[in-house]
Amino acid sequence: MQTLSKETTYKNFINNQWVDSSSQETVKSISPMNKEEVVGLIHSSTKEDLEQAVSAADQAKKAWRKLGQAQRGQYLYKVADILEKNLDDIAETLTKEMGKTLPEAKGETARGVAILRYYAGEGMRKNGDVIPSSDKDALMFTKRTPLGVVGVITPWNFPVAIPIWKMAPALVYGNTVVFKPATEAAVTAAKVVDCFAQAGLPEGVLNFITGSGSVVGQGLIDHPLLNGITFTGSETVGEIVAKSASARGIKYQLEMGGKNPIIITKDADLNAAVEAVISGGFRSTGQKCTASSRVIVESEVYDEFKEKLVQETEKIKVGNGLQEGIWMGPCASESQFNTVKHYIEIGKKEGAELIAGGDVLTGEEFDKGFYITPAIFDNVNPDMAIAQEEIFGPVIALIKAENLEEAIEMANNTKYGLSASIFTTNIGSLLEFIDEIEAGLVRINAESAGVELQAPFGGMKGSSTGSREQGEAAQEFYTSIKTVFIKG
Ligand code: NAP
Ligand code: MG
Repeated sequence: MQTLSKETTYKNFINNQWVDSSSQETVKSISPMNKEEVVGLIHSSTKEDLEQAVSAADQAKKAWRKLGQAQRGQYLYKVADILEKNLDDIAETLTKEMGKTLPEAKGETARGVAILRYYAGEGMRKNGDVIPSSDKDALMFTKRTPLGVVGVITPWNFPVAIPIWKMAPALVYGNTVVFKPATEAAVTAAKVVDCFAQAGLPEGVLNFITGSGSVVGQGLIDHPLLNGITFTGSETVGEIVAKSASARGIKYQLEMGGKNPIIITKDADLNAAVEAVISGGFRSTGQKCTASSRVIVESEVYDEFKEKLVQETEKIKVGNGLQEGIWMGPCASESQFNTVKHYIEIGKKEGAELIAGGDVLTGEEFDKGFYITPAIFDNVNPDMAIAQEEIFGPVIALIKAENLEEAIEMANNTKYGLSASIFTTNIGSLLEFIDEIEAGLVRINAESAGVELQAPFGGMKGSSTGSREQGEAAQEFYTSIKTVFIKG
């Protein structure tokens, strides 16, 4: 069994061996809390390394498929136990590497354990249906079979949960995996992979390779031995994945950005709504794909809501997420930090009014990190860039609507359709919202962020390819159906 040592260089995991890349070159993963702190070194892998990883997965696929679903599930129970044992270390690494607070990092890692146990249980659930044949002497049924080798490409914002919600179903349904994590959070990803490694999966079933998106990521999606690709990240890269996969006719799944609205009606419980907007907008420093970034408020309660929101936002303590009492950490990287600052400037130029936050924190403990206070813009016009483009940071746009109909129209006025919320006490309004809103996740009197691992997750319009992850829905993507007809 290979385990990671305490050394700070994290290797690739290919054919059950932790190996250096052929380039021998590494890049630093730095902490957004202090850019001089190196969380670990990761390998800049090459096409040659990728060949080895894909070929290992290809060679392992037949035996893994034949092992049987229940047996594959047993491995996932082991991985879950190992992850649970290492929860504190992995959560701390996650906080250091991408900046979310320690309680959030622990919550995410615990979520990873629960996802593993859910898919371990899938090992014992059905993988087909019996369908009556028109021939009374025949037996007809469907049998789900694995795709083969699945490429897994993930973003940095949930470096524990997203890889697990892709790899666990891929594996239990019988696929082998080549996993390329986001470079910004590759040390955390390596520690997650180590839990799979320690569970003693057969050789080649799970392979892990770090390196740049343009070399390793692109090489992976273009690889002829790949049978499926699951991707979460930006639309720009998603488009590249789609082109490559559709040109070769392989199955692919994309989960991308969001510009998630939350509507507050005139009859809403405003205190509960403020709490939800703050949590949905600013937790994880606004870097959740389901974060609320547009808050659309009915004019009758607009001023009262705004006042309460600003008051509560100003209480948010920003700082090093490892420290107790810190509610919001830094932006995850320098480039995210620059993007947030850029959009704050754009918002001002467009004529919106910055009524809270948006300040870069300075002073000893902040100077080396990427800290910015949670920002609220007032007088936002729904067509402004800050109301249309995904910022992926702690910036909320407040928009006034005359009535529910206008609010829903504004909510739908974007290319995205991941998640959407409404706060209302009126049954008619909530039913109207459920019917009319264009979003894959529809949330009533709850924040727009928040996923349940046993339910389908995914977006509409530009947020997704329309396929769903998690829960039973994952089976649809990670398998193909054989329709079997047996004549007696
Ligand atoms: P990104 O830049 O698209 O990167 C995502 C992954 O793709 C990374 O592993 C990246 O590697 C890799 N990559 C880059 N170029 C590639 C290429 N040419 N071919 C193949 N892979 C390539 O996204 P991100 O900045 O990490 O994540 C933020 C985005 O993810 C946001 O838009 C957010 O909304 C979205 N997101 C969506 C969901 C959802 O479920 N809908 C969940 C979380 C995040 P490198 O890191 O090495 O560049
Ligand atoms: Mg980092």
